[in-house]
Amino acid sequence: MNAPALLTSTEENYLKAVFALAQPRIGTNALADRVQTKASSATDMIQRLAEKGLVEYERYRGVGLTPSGRVAAAAVIRRHRLWEVFLAEKLGFGWHEVHDLAEELEHVQSPELIRRLDAFLDTPSYDPHGDPIPRADGTWPTAAGVRLDYLHRVGMVPGTEWTLSEIVPFDGTRTVQTRSGRTLDLSALAARHVLVQPQEPPADEPLGPTRRDLLQWGDETPYETTRPSETQTPDA
Ligand SMILES: [Zn+2]
Repeated sequence: MNAPALLTSTEENYLKAVFALAQPRIGTNALADRVQTKASSATDMIQRLAEKGLVEYERYRGVGLTPSGRVAAAAVIRRHRLWEVFLAEKLGFGWHEVHDLAEELEHVQSPELIRRLDAFLDTPSYDPHGDPIPRADGTWPTAAGVRLDYLHRVGMVPGTEWTLSEIVPFDGTRTVQTRSGRTLDLSALAARHVLVQPQEPPADEPLGPTRRDLLQWGDETPYETTRPSETQTPDA
């Protein structure tokens, strides 16, 4: 399936915004906010994209993507996330730096460039933030299963600090948070691959999971890690 050719950067950014916000539709004002423009400009752009068959708009119901709009949005997101992997893994940029650069690089529309980039990176399924990378045909990788490199991709590597904020009794999913506020749900299976060194929370912090919860991070399974050379020893 081919995405419609030669969209402008602005058109691509609108498609991404509609994709990100439409559940399944988004109002014109919210869309204008997202792309930081006036509602009248957003209305003009929506009309243009509707004429290209990429969005459908109904007054009072808002705007949503058509099937080909979804494919076109996936293509932009695919380019963005592949560039993020390249910048982080091959050029050594930090995870906080790659997004802004990828916002520009994503608009370079050479299918051959992206095909070679994807092959060069061994066809990754996740970007450095752990978000899935749409495939070349516009489909998305399923989130099922834990990839061995998943923890690395989501930034849960030795030496990072996370706060355990919740353990779901039903299936043992751990909700953790970085200092920058990023949250991540780790399945019990994924958590078994993480080695932790618990620290007591400050006395003035509301009571969260107990120290026992932290120590039982990996349940009964012996502590393991995907990168044995860099592990730390648990203090218990
Ligand atoms: Zn990004």
